[in-house]
Amino acid sequence: MSNMVTLTIDGLPATVPVGTSILDAAASIGIDIPVVCYHPHLTANGLCRVCSVDVGRRLQAAACVTAVSEGMVVNTRTKDVDKARRTTLEMLASTIDLSEAPHILDLLVEYDADPDRFVGMERRESPVHDDNPFYLRDYNKCINCWRCVQVCAEDAQYTFALNFDGRGFHTFIGTFMGDGMPDTTCVFCGQCVAVCPTNALKPKREFLLEQGVNPDDIFRQTRRGGKRRRKAAEE
Ligand code: SF4
Repeated sequence: MSNMVTLTIDGLPATVPVGTSILDAAASIGIDIPVVCYHPHLTANGLCRVCSVDVGRRLQAAACVTAVSEGMVVNTRTKDVDKARRTTLEMLASTIDLSEAPHILDLLVEYDADPDRFVGMERRESPVHDDNPFYLRDYNKCINCWRCVQVCAEDAQYTFALNFDGRGFHTFIGTFMGDGMPDTTCVFCGQCVAVCPTNALKPKREFLLEQGVNPDDIFRQTRRGGKRRRKAAEE
């Protein structure tokens, strides 16, 4: 039995190994399917559905988590696919601060999405967590893509400092019992900040630079133990 699969994507033939996702199969023949929650080095979860494509079924399939099959016919830009992406992007824009998510803002333009379509609907509101010298957590900007949780868990660090909390619309990323980061298992590796697509997780130095804080002060404030050393020097 062959371990290769042949399918058609947007009218073009593609032959890829069994188990390949539609997303990767399309990329292998130069077709770019948009993604938001997907990250190439993390386990795909099909959460945002922006990569959904037509596979000839009643429901569209998330390309990042759907494996190809022999003879499959995939269409990545039908009217219905574009409409679904537009609506998903409009819902994201209506609830979340995307001002520091340039990739998503570009998609809003590409799919002719109206960020004000659902104006007046409930927005995600959260205090900004500033509880350590290394990074801030602003969940007003969080799209629940799960990347930070994955990279903190089995995909890289095995630290498990972050996870989902809450339910439904009020689902958010949190720590165990809402503890501040210094009281969790976090080792401040910075990988969650690196994979965050919206700047919901932001290096403290970047934040302080944006606030116009003097670089020497920034360095003092963001060195590990800086507060303790400053206190000891004053005594
Ligand atoms: S904080 Fe960033 S990486 Fe984590 S779920 Fe939210 S948007 Fe994704």
